[in-house]
Amino acid sequence: MSLEFLIQRTNGKARTGRLITPHAEIETPVFMPVGTVASVKGVPQDLLEELGAQIILGNTYHLYLRPGVETVRKMGGLHGFMSWRRAILTDSGGFQVFSLSELRKVTEDGVTFRSHLDGSSHFFSPESAMEAQIGLGADIIMAFDECTEYPADQARMRASMEMTARWAARSKQYFEERKHEVPWARVGTDAFVRPEGRSPESSTAWGDSKVVSLSDGVEVELHSAGRTNASVPTQSLFGIVQGGMERALRKESAERTIEIGFPGYAIGGLSVGEPRELTCEIVESTLEHLPKDKPRYLMGVGTPEEIVKYANLGVDMMDCVLPTRAARHGLLFTSEGKVSIKQARYASDPGPLDPKCHCKVCQRYSRAYLRHLYASNEVLAQVLNTIHNLSFYLDTMQRVRHSILLGEEYRFLSGAGLGRNLEL
Ligand SMILES: [Zn+2]
Repeated sequence: MSLEFLIQRTNGKARTGRLITPHAEIETPVFMPVGTVASVKGVPQDLLEELGAQIILGNTYHLYLRPGVETVRKMGGLHGFMSWRRAILTDSGGFQVFSLSELRKVTEDGVTFRSHLDGSSHFFSPESAMEAQIGLGADIIMAFDECTEYPADQARMRASMEMTARWAARSKQYFEERKHEVPWARVGTDAFVRPEGRSPESSTAWGDSKVVSLSDGVEVELHSAGRTNASVPTQSLFGIVQGGMERALRKESAERTIEIGFPGYAIGGLSVGEPRELTCEIVESTLEHLPKDKPRYLMGVGTPEEIVKYANLGVDMMDCVLPTRAARHGLLFTSEGKVSIKQARYASDPGPLDPKCHCKVCQRYSRAYLRHLYASNEVLAQVLNTIHNLSFYLDTMQRVRHSILLGEEYRFLSGAGLGRNLEL
């Protein structure tokens, strides 16, 4: 079994469940911190584990350019390379090709683009994006899609959506033919690729197929991921719904993607400059056309308020650079609203950043110290700020899950006061 999605409880449109991947069991709805180049900037892997990150995201475009897929593949994939034992998701590279690279040329075959690092020329197609993602070895990988720009006219949105549908079919075909080439467990130092909680003693060898008990009492069957055997876990490929800002095109894109058939579906092409209300409208209408029994992933969204809103609409997975990027710019999310730590008003403030936060930073340091670190351009400022912001996002999602289980709606009222269930 490469992916299993179990819904525990529904509450209105919201649902909480478990997504079981080869490397981790993930509670949903989940927020996935972004580890662009196999690193969540400023935060070492052991701290990410402590913060409760169950799955992190890697960017195929960046990793393909540096250090290169082959380097990562030889290390057993991203899990081995970055020593991360929980789940990983990689994007297809499409979004970065369209947003970061220069001189791109899009044809039916794929996209020719220039690296933002050194100007060298490269080509991504559905097939090469799958090849790269299989080499990187994330638990969940994404079909190669075209992120339609905003604004775009009707003809452009339709043509782009139709090409994404054709690329999805090509992505799936290549993946099905080559999915057993995933590099898990192929390196000698298998300590790095053995999923967390599975000690060497619990299994005679990671390469064997054997039922073992994990620390939480769950019994799982371990297999070598290197064998071309039908029972061996592989990666899971998700399809992506596009269609610009047009509801009818989104519906058609969803139907065509579902017809191809994927174990999970993403909503892409949002947060590309459109008004926030439009994002919400498109998300809500697209969700209606996605299967209820499959995980739904909203890509690249959003603020703490937005991730709560989308979880309540029935989104199961989200990722966003906002908590980590904002942290590096001194913008911190707290239960009392946003704090710009660079402001002089915090220079002598002895209180914690967020009195309601239980993270390491809020338990130990004052606003005055965090402000000083930021003003002094200390590396530690970025580290501590990122730890807090990620903690805030992950805790927010945990509260959302808890509320769904209790049959309540978790409301996030930043700045104006506290959500009714914020004290949970
Ligand atoms: Zn904190």
